[in-house]
Amino acid sequence: MRLHIMGSAAAEGWPAMWCDCPSCHKAHQAGGKNYRTRSGALIDGVIKVDLCPDTYMQARRDDVDLSKVTDLLITHAHQDHFTPAELGFHVPPFAHGATPLHVWAALQAIMLARAATQRWPDVENRLHVLTPLAPVRLSDGITEVLPLPARHDRHSGPLNYIITRNGKSLFYGLDSGWYPDESWEAQKGNKFAIVVLDCTHGDMEASDGHGSLGTAKRIKEEMLAAGTADHNTVFIANHFSHNGGLLHEEMEDIVRSAGILVGYDGMIVEV
Ligand SMILES: [Zn+2]
Ligand SMILES: [Zn+2]
Ligand SMILES: [Zn+2]
Repeated sequence: MRLHIMGSAAAEGWPAMWCDCPSCHKAHQAGGKNYRTRSGALIDGVIKVDLCPDTYMQARRDDVDLSKVTDLLITHAHQDHFTPAELGFHVPPFAHGATPLHVWAALQAIMLARAATQRWPDVENRLHVLTPLAPVRLSDGITEVLPLPARHDRHSGPLNYIITRNGKSLFYGLDSGWYPDESWEAQKGNKFAIVVLDCTHGDMEASDGHGSLGTAKRIKEEMLAAGTADHNTVFIANHFSHNGGLLHEEMEDIVRSAGILVGYDGMIVEV
């Protein structure tokens, strides 16, 4: 399994679009991995997770061919994760020869997608409503997905995902605070090769709907104890807000001893 982290920031990006705060200035000066666009990922070049407002630029920057994507999983209806208007460009004359794209999400995001694609039945006919804890097989015929309830703004239909492909499982945990009990329960029996965790607050206190480096460490311990992860599992902290204030290297110093990697734009992990 090849995971490509295309974006690693929280909603406003980092440096944030309209911000004049010290951590945005620090990130601007340091550059490199401290430039963070909105969160999204690509699995094996064909399964896309989230469609953030920066997706077009990320695909050009990282030389990604999005015409090959078969399935798009949306975590929730917040605009930093889902820009439904982009689905309208999947059909001629905006795109030619693209692989038919199936879109999977909770009802809240699917309703936004319907509103954005009603002029294009080919797109609208491939929208699928997911129910928490009800597994599905994606259109590629080999990828199994278990949607998990997330702890995040309930009006956004928040889902985390266990994505299993060719014998490898990925836990995608954006956006969420500490997982609800039914999520922990449903994870049992899995063995994750990769775990992506919400660290919006950096080394500050986590909130109800978002995590921190501290919760990432606790989640890793909990997964190791439950047997859903082992010493081979790759843990990645991701989805960072400028309000966390720490540069990439500073966050690496905090979680290195816990064996957690700090995500960045363009990061690729192969397991
Ligand atoms: Zn977000
Ligand atoms: Zn800022
Ligand atoms: Zn959100």
